Amino acid sequence: MNDKWDRMERELERLKSDNLFRRMTVFESPQTSQVKVGGQQQHLFSSNSYLDLCCEPKVKEHVRRVLEEYGSGSGGSRLTTGTTSIHAELEDTIAEFKRREAALVFNTGYMANVGILPALAGKGDIIYSDELNHASIIDGCRLSKAELVIYRHNDMADLEKKIKAHPGQKGVIVSDGVFSMDGDIVNLPGLVELANRYGLLSMIDEAHATGVIGDTGRGTEEYYGMEGSVDVLMGTLSKAVGGEGGFVCGSHILIDYLINKARSFIFSTSLSPATMAADTQGIRMIMEQPQRVQKLQENIRYCCAALNSRGIKAESETAIIPVIIGEEGRAMKVMKLLKERGYYISAIRYPTVARGSARLRLALMSSHTREEMDGLADALKECISLAEYE
Ligand code: PMP
Repeated sequence: MNDKWDRMERELERLKSDNLFRRMTVFESPQTSQVKVGGQQQHLFSSNSYLDLCCEPKVKEHVRRVLEEYGSGSGGSRLTTGTTSIHAELEDTIAEFKRREAALVFNTGYMANVGILPALAGKGDIIYSDELNHASIIDGCRLSKAELVIYRHNDMADLEKKIKAHPGQKGVIVSDGVFSMDGDIVNLPGLVELANRYGLLSMIDEAHATGVIGDTGRGTEEYYGMEGSVDVLMGTLSKAVGGEGGFVCGSHILIDYLINKARSFIFSTSLSPATMAADTQGIRMIMEQPQRVQKLQENIRYCCAALNSRGIKAESETAIIPVIIGEEGRAMKVMKLLKERGYYISAIRYPTVARGSARLRLALMSSHTREEMDGLADALKECISLAEYE
């Protein structure tokens, strides 16, 4: 008889033998720079809670108040009964922070991308997408019926060549603002100029830019001094903001259009008011305390210098500092050795990054100390060389 589990078992075996099998790590403590994993204290260098806002007392206090008043669930989708004044307050706060006419919240950043892209581009249109864009953008492109054209990473000449090959066709150029696995920043002046010249919409994913780049953490546009230039500014509330949810901001036309067209927005129960409250308070903290952003930016400079001084190539202006190892098994080995020394850093492998470009993806937080970063740099140097000779 045909064994219905056979195919899955064989695929799992293959993943294991290729060092690509994944499992979850259980953290037994909140997401701060010091965590407990498997009963052991570890320095965490892989969190997206870049500004340490998920454990901020003022955020928790606001969440408690809203939870007490509004309860646990939202009770409906946004267009039925699931929009409360807490939801409206969050969207106003995002629009104020990103200096846009309006904003709209989705349940996650992933859901934002898979909702926005099919709403903006359909059959007969084109989506131009950077080859290193996040999986949620790729999935959004796949869900749309538009033709997908991939351009070389951050290569505006290649993008223009590809746009010129499709004269007169409507569509969208979409890119990460800060690339999630490499930590580099989109060439925004080039991208916006091409979008405007060829009558295409520009869309930027601010997931790792929000709260991280720009003098006050407002993201990619602020970094370049180009505020208001991107047509569709999307992001997540789950990283520097410290909460949960995705967002998009822009003109009233854009937001009204997405409210009516984005299926992942329309057909899902909205986030709970308590989650929304965490997001609102997180953004307020970024606006009130730009020194958090400055401390994170200082840490980025310090950590890159600490790594470089130990012969480890590290170059980043964002909280993501990739240390490329190469072979998947070796990256896993370095991760394990680091863990034994008290440093928790995720190894990133195919299919998240290209085969043979496995890496340790360091992510910095504003609370990391210089001692911790020096300790990490020393441990990393030792573990990389140990893994090489084993
Ligand atoms: N875009 C990018 C660039 C991301 O890195 C992520 C999260 N990994 C997302 C979107 C998805 O956001 P969320 O985690 O809120 O679903």
